[in-house]
Amino acid sequence: MSPQRLGQNFLTDPSVAVRIIHRAGLTSGTAVLEVGPGKGALTYQLASSAASLTVIEFDHALAEALSDRYAGVESVDVVEADARTVDPSSLRQVAGRKYTLVANLPYYAATPIIRNFLESSHPPERMVVMVQREVANEMRAEPGQMGMLSLAVQVYAKVDVLFDVPPEAFTPRPKVTSSVVELTPRPVPLVPPGDQGDFFRLAKAGFRAPRKQLHNSLAKGLNVDAPLARALVESADIDMERRPATLSIDEWKTMLSRWRDAGRPFVVHGTSRDDRKKALNR
Ligand code: SAM
Repeated sequence: MSPQRLGQNFLTDPSVAVRIIHRAGLTSGTAVLEVGPGKGALTYQLASSAASLTVIEFDHALAEALSDRYAGVESVDVVEADARTVDPSSLRQVAGRKYTLVANLPYYAATPIIRNFLESSHPPERMVVMVQREVANEMRAEPGQMGMLSLAVQVYAKVDVLFDVPPEAFTPRPKVTSSVVELTPRPVPLVPPGDQGDFFRLAKAGFRAPRKQLHNSLAKGLNVDAPLARALVESADIDMERRPATLSIDEWKTMLSRWRDAGRPFVVHGTSRDDRKKALNR
């Protein structure tokens, strides 16, 4: 992938790096994982303020330059990998230990990277990450403004937006403003692991037509008849006028129970493997 496609907007304002590292609250005992170290805007300070530092960089040339720089430094590991899929338990200095994740994330992959770590069997103790401001706002949204990303993050973590960073703080300059966000993973997710598949499948169906009323959107997303979708919403005690963005996580959980009581109706049109796959992924 080209540097532009890898979201390489390097942080060039050192005062922002200082603020991020301050908010990460590191002590000399903290194990840190940095995603996307790039040219090292955060890396050098992280390496000197933490007990250990593991960096994950996808760009071969950048990973190689960091490996050269830290050759022989026992407390710093440079791993060339895709942070959207890497398993934190496979990382020598992170496996079996509490750790803090710090990152200026590439815009194109911020959401899958965050989800990979939140959903992993070994999530970080806290995450301080920079993302596009709109993404930060959707992650912390309250009922009325919620979207799939709000659910996908808030089921696993508490979200605080710490401060904004203007485009001038980066080279090359992005077109958007960024925000630094603190995510504190919950000791127990709001939806039990065994229910998460159905919970997110139902929510995805419910957000199929986000501007429509929930029953209309659900009818479309689940491919079920309008009266059945209305009955589901009614049985969950949710007003027929409400739109998907207004539901709280607890209300989605009630919807899930009613959906299960009704036998999880979900109609797949067509019979080929592709039809079924498409329906499940919508
Ligand atoms: N931390 C540096 C800074 O603040 O200047 C660089 C931040 S830049 C926004 C994002 C970095 O993530 C780049 O170095 C890019 O190569 C790297 N990157 C992009 N996609 C990645 C992925 N899937 N996994 C790991 N690193 C990735």
